[in-house]
Amino acid sequence: MRPAASTRVRFAPSPTGSLHLGNALTAVANRDFGDWLLLRIDDTDPARNVPGGEETILRDLEWLGIAWDEGPVRQSERQERYREAAAPLGDRFGRTTLLREDGSATYQLASVVDDVDFAITHVIRGSDHRPNEALHRALHEALGTTPPEYIHHGLILGPDGRKLSKRDGMSSIAELRDAGIPAEAVRAYLDELGLPRHDVHLDPSRIRRLAVEALAAMPDEELAGRTGAPVELVPALRGARDLNEARDYAQLILVPEPVSLPDAARPTLERFRELANGDGHVVVRELKAVGGDLKALRLALTGRDRGPELATIIDALPREEALRRIDAAL
Ligand code: GLU
Repeated sequence: MRPAASTRVRFAPSPTGSLHLGNALTAVANRDFGDWLLLRIDDTDPARNVPGGEETILRDLEWLGIAWDEGPVRQSERQERYREAAAPLGDRFGRTTLLREDGSATYQLASVVDDVDFAITHVIRGSDHRPNEALHRALHEALGTTPPEYIHHGLILGPDGRKLSKRDGMSSIAELRDAGIPAEAVRAYLDELGLPRHDVHLDPSRIRRLAVEALAAMPDEELAGRTGAPVELVPALRGARDLNEARDYAQLILVPEPVSLPDAARPTLERFRELANGDGHVVVRELKAVGGDLKALRLALTGRDRGPELATIIDALPREEALRRIDAAL
C-alpha cells in the first residue's frame, strides 16, 4: 500500500551504459512507488564509468517514459560534501572504507550521505544490495540521521535461471530496442513485475506478447513515425509482431526485389490486372475463387514469398505501381 505521506525515492545507476533490464526494473519500481524521484548518478568509481554512459541512461529512461523530479545529481560533483560528512567518522567505518587514499568517497559513504541530504524516505533497489543494508543503517546511526525504509526486490534472471546476459538477447534496454520491442511493451512488462519478492526468470514470450499488444494499440501516425513508413502503408504493417518486422514489411512494399516469374503465373497476374481497382480483400477472394496463384502475385508485388497479408499489400500500393510491378514480373 502506498503510504499517505509523500514518498521520496531515488534511482541511482552507475554510468556504465545502456540500462540492464534489472536496473530498468528498479527505475520503474521507484517511479511507480515514489511521489518524488531523484535521478542520481553513482559515478564514484572512475574505473566503472563509461564515456557517454550517463547520456545513454538518460535516453533509456526517456524511452521508457520515466520522468524524474530532480537530477541528474552526480556523486563525483559532491566529493567535498562527503568528506565533510565523514570528518567525524574518519576514513574508515569498522572494516569499511569511507574515503579512499586520494580523498574520494566510496559508494557506501556517498550513497548514505545523499540519501540524507535528499531526504530519501524509501530506498528501493535490487536484492544484490541487501548485504549493504546493515552497513547503511549503521552509517546513518553514526551520522545521527534516520535511515530510510529499505525495500529490496528480486532480480531478473535469464529464462534458464542463470544470470541474465547478452546471450538472452533481452538483457538491456538497448538490446530490447534493437530487437524492435516497443518501449510500451518493455514498460508494461516491468510494471507487471512490480516489486518481485523473489528472483524472477525473464519471460521472452510474455514480452513478445506485450509487443504485439503495444503495436495493436499504437495509432497509425505513431506506427508510421516509428517505422519511417508513410501512413498509407500502416494497414499493411499491422500484422507485424515487432517494430523491426514492421520496418521490414514497409521496406518490402516500398522497395520490391526484382523478380521474373514463369509463364505459369501469367493467368493470375492478368486476372489481377483486371481486378486491380478493387479492395484488396475482394481481389484476393476473387483470385482464390478462380484458383489463382496467390504466391505468384505476392512475388510479383514484393519480390518476396513472405510478408504482410496480401490484401493489405494490394491496398497499400497505388494501382499504377501495382500494375507496373506486374508488368515487370512478366
Ligand atoms: N549504483 C548502485 C547500482 O547501480 C545503486 C545502489 C543503491 O541503490 O543504493 O547498483
